[in-house]
Amino acid sequence: MKIGFIGLGNMGAPMAANLAKAGHEVTGFDIANTPPEGVHAADAVTGAAADMDVVITMLPNGAILQSVAADVIPAMTQGATFLDCSTVDVESARTVANMAAAAGLMAVDAPVSGGIGGAAAGTLTFMAGGSDAGFAAVSPLFDIMGQKAVHCGPSGNGQAAKICNNMILGVTMIGTCEAFALADKLGLDRQKMFDVVSTSSGYSWVMNAYCPAPGVGPQSPADNDYTPGFASELMLKDLRLSQQAAEASDADTPMGARATELYADFVEQEDGLGRDFSAMLPRFVSRRRR
Ligand code: NAD
Repeated sequence: MKIGFIGLGNMGAPMAANLAKAGHEVTGFDIANTPPEGVHAADAVTGAAADMDVVITMLPNGAILQSVAADVIPAMTQGATFLDCSTVDVESARTVANMAAAAGLMAVDAPVSGGIGGAAAGTLTFMAGGSDAGFAAVSPLFDIMGQKAVHCGPSGNGQAAKICNNMILGVTMIGTCEAFALADKLGLDRQKMFDVVSTSSGYSWVMNAYCPAPGVGPQSPADNDYTPGFASELMLKDLRLSQQAAEASDADTPMGARATELYADFVEQEDGLGRDFSAMLPRFVSRRRR
């Protein structure tokens, strides 16, 4: 396939490189970064759009996605597919899908889980929204860039799945860190806490696979001085998207709202910026009951 790839940052560059390695003809564009090995450089954003079977975007947010889509969609060939893999708000995903449909294109929103490591290894999970035909058109690319793709329904539903998952993740991380901090105060050894909880009803991906306590459980960013991993500011971005969606759909998400406040304090008032989102543990340990 001829693929245009727009947004060659931490995630986009390795994803584009994997598509090129698999034999696709990939042309990339980024306002700041040069393409990775094997990916041709376009001089302008439209150079990564014209004549392409699929155009993939991996951009920071919904406002940027909408402005890029406004430039790219008119340059694309009828019947081609616009595939956005960024994490953005549900409304932006649906707006872009409507723009694409009006231009005779297919559109799929397919945010990812798996982080930079998964992007490099080609083991991402894609959660996709769009038509059956759109999903079928890009499925071979999901197979290269990832290990699993779930078709979640019509346009926007990929983003809906992503922000619901990450709201659970943020809330669970905070609950797990609070519990470790309480265990410390109660004189309960962290390894014993892990041994019990990881095989009891408090278990979770956070506890079992990404334990926020250093030296406990499998290797995680906690064992690397809380170097991300998944940075707290990215967690905050996703939690804010969940709250934006909750407000727009009149959903009651009090735990998601509190998690958003805590990560906002951590990133914007405290020392969370640039630290892994599991660094909530030392934050709770150093604080007293309020
Ligand atoms: P990044 O900031 O490293 O990459 C974004 C890239 O987009 C940058 O290279 C930037 O120069 C480029 N860009 C910005 N505006 C542009 C424009 N108008 N035209 C062309 N290029 C433009 O971010 P990232 O970590 O690669 O994340 C990308 C997306 O993936 C985000 O939506 C993020 O939430 C999501 N995501 C990230 C992770 C992660 O662990 N980093 C995990 C899952 C999802």
